[in-house]
Amino acid sequence: MELSLEKLKAREIGALIAAGDCTCAEVAEFFLNRIESLNPKINAFISFDRSAAMTRAERLDSLRKSGKSKLSPLYGVPVAFKDNMQLKGQPTTCASKILTGHIAVYDAGITIKCLDAGMIIVGKTNLDEFAMGSSNENSAYGPVRNPIDPSRVPGGSSGGSAAAVAAGMTPLAFGSDTGGSVRLPAAFCGIVGLRPSYGRISRYGLVAFASSLDQIGPFALDTKDMALVLKATAGYDRFDSTSVNQPVPDYYVSLEQGLKNLRIGIPREYFGEGIEKAVMEAIDDVIRGLRSERIELVDISLPTTKYCIAIYYIVANAEASSNLARYDGVKYGLRIDADSLIDMFCATRTSGFGSEVKRRIMLGTYVLSAGYYDAYYRRALKVRSLIRADFEEAFKKCDLIISPTSPSTAFAFGERTDDPLKMYLSDVFTVAAPLAGLPAISFPCGTDPSGLPIGLQLMGRYFDEESLLRGAYHIERMLARG
Ligand code: GLN
Repeated sequence: MELSLEKLKAREIGALIAAGDCTCAEVAEFFLNRIESLNPKINAFISFDRSAAMTRAERLDSLRKSGKSKLSPLYGVPVAFKDNMQLKGQPTTCASKILTGHIAVYDAGITIKCLDAGMIIVGKTNLDEFAMGSSNENSAYGPVRNPIDPSRVPGGSSGGSAAAVAAGMTPLAFGSDTGGSVRLPAAFCGIVGLRPSYGRISRYGLVAFASSLDQIGPFALDTKDMALVLKATAGYDRFDSTSVNQPVPDYYVSLEQGLKNLRIGIPREYFGEGIEKAVMEAIDDVIRGLRSERIELVDISLPTTKYCIAIYYIVANAEASSNLARYDGVKYGLRIDADSLIDMFCATRTSGFGSEVKRRIMLGTYVLSAGYYDAYYRRALKVRSLIRADFEEAFKKCDLIISPTSPSTAFAFGERTDDPLKMYLSDVFTVAAPLAGLPAISFPCGTDPSGLPIGLQLMGRYFDEESLLRGAYHIERMLARG
């Protein structure tokens, strides 16, 4: 049979396998061939191991034949991981030269969950070095191209995972979201990306960037697939001290409730200047549609919004400067030998890190230094509590908060690389949820005149991914009806 699976949803592929209409090996081979043929153009994958994926697929097929396989809707479905998550026996590069030669010695919590659900790992995806960036232009392995328009960025930092799903190289992938790195690329590539609440998915085996903000999140083609993959991968992990032991609801089953009994807040600070016209119009259309369906819409205010970018880049860089101290040529990856230990540290870090990572380490070290700690870091933590308080107040009046994911659609390569501040402002709508530890989803809500996708963001209460998915599903269906 000539397979053509690239447009199928994860659950449709799972159903084909469950019905015996195709084997896991056929599915794996199809997607691996597609990765092989598209990757030279898109550069979404840093590595993929055909023989490991095929061996796994064949094993899944024989388990199925012997009746010993688990019943999982994602059995046999391919998945990819951003290359800052550990996959035992495979390189973890974080798209940095400094990890050259590093091979993972254990599996991340997320890897184990995916394997338990019967998925097939097809490879490791490209990213901004150490997940620092908004465009995937900061990778030591070269930029990722947006599959919708290869002259544009895919968004960052999980650009490889988003591009891989959008290009049909895998139906599911995982990224990490510290300040928007799942939602921004999902918006730019026209797919669904979810940042779960802090503590919802295990971060064991995710290379740390900013530990109080980092969270792993899935990419999928639609909300139904997102509900399935979140259900399969969320939950407590005793190896992650920040993971929270709370039951995982059946997100898929509750989707059908849509926006029933849910109120949507419209934060006035997210609808100000600087938003591209097409983005504004697309979000306005959705709001109009909801109003005509008599969904309850309430005006809300998040007054600390104007401080979020500054606070995020102080907190994230402070934590990064400390987390990245471990890359000194002693334990991991690259080592540039020199006459003294200090010179070896210096030579290794100078040649191993790219310029954005160095900028972050310097900024982070500065805000933590004795003379400036109070003025920057301590003050940022205080404002961070005010940001949290803003959300607590807002969620007294509504259950979900709507906004654009990004003020613009995917921009051209080089457009923002000369001006770090301009690049940082791409995250203006995505950094608040991580600062407050809240879940947020981005999904497509239209295209601009050049056909580039526009992302809509919903933010929810702590640990209420269920309402988030219900809201996204409702709007997705409303848009599909036209
Ligand atoms: N763009 C943001 C940054 O560069 C967010 C990155 C992320 O979420 N990993 O820090």
